[in-house]
Amino acid sequence: ALPKINGSVKLEKVIFEYEPGRQALKGIDIEAQAGQSIALVGHTGSGKSTIINLLSRFYDVTEGTVKIDGIDVRDVKLESLRAQIGIVLQDTFIFSGTIRENIRFGRLDATDEEIEEVTRAVKAHDFIMALPGGYDTEVEERGSALSMGQRQLLSFARALLADPRILILDEATASIDTETELKIQEALKVLLQGRTSFIVAHRLSTIRHADKIIVLDHGEIKEQGTHAEL
Ligand code: ATP
Ligand code: MG
Repeated sequence: ALPKINGSVKLEKVIFEYEPGRQALKGIDIEAQAGQSIALVGHTGSGKSTIINLLSRFYDVTEGTVKIDGIDVRDVKLESLRAQIGIVLQDTFIFSGTIRENIRFGRLDATDEEIEEVTRAVKAHDFIMALPGGYDTEVEERGSALSMGQRQLLSFARALLADPRILILDEATASIDTETELKIQEALKVLLQGRTSFIVAHRLSTIRHADKIIVLDHGEIKEQGTHAEL
C-alpha cells in the first residue's frame, strides 16, 4: 500500500500558461492545512479549473510550485499522487454497467458491504433501492436514466469509497430541486469530513461552509478569507 499523506497543500507563486505568453494564472499563493476545505470562486475564465488541473497534475506549473505535505508534486510518482487525490467533476462520469460497478470504479476490491456503507453515508441507498434492480440496475453511459442529483450522489459514494486524503470537486451548476439540494449538502458534509478539499463552488451553502474562500479574477487572487470576513 502507498504511504498515507497528511494532505496539506501549498501553491507558491504559481504561474501557468496554456499558450506561451498568455498567463491563465498570474502568481497564485494558496495554503490549505490538512483537513481544510477551500472554495474557489470567480467569473468564467478566472482560473478555477486551471488550479484544479494543476493540483491533479493534468498540467504542470509554468513557474512556482505546488506542494503536498511540503513535497513538490513533480517529485511524486503520478500513480501515488492520483491514489491520494479524489476528483469529482461537474460532468459526473457514469459508464454503462450496474450501479454497483459504477460505485466500485476505482476501488475494485471493495465488498458489497463497503459499497452499501458509503451509499448509506451519502444518502444514496434509498433511491438505489427504489430502482427496479437495486444495486444491479443497469445504467447507460452518461447515466441518462438518472437525475442530475442522483448522479452527484453516486459520484460522492464513489469518492467516499476511494477515501482519498485530498478531494477536488467541481460542483455541478445544474438546478436541482430543494429536497435533492439538501441531500447533496448533507452528503457533501460527510464526504469532506477529514479531508483537504478544493471545491469550485457554485452553491452559496458550500461557500458558506468552506474554511477559506478564494476569489479569483483574471488569474489572480482578488480576495481571500472566510465567509464572515468577505
Ligand atoms: P469557468 O467558470 O468558465 O469554468 P474557470 O474559472 O474554470 O472558468 P479556466 O478554465 O481556469 O477558468 O480558464 C482560465 C483561462 O485559461 C481562460 O482565459 C481560458 O480561456 C484559458 N484556458 C482554459 N483552458 C484552456 C486550454 N485548454 N487551452 C488554452 N486556454 C485555456
Ligand atoms: Mg472551470
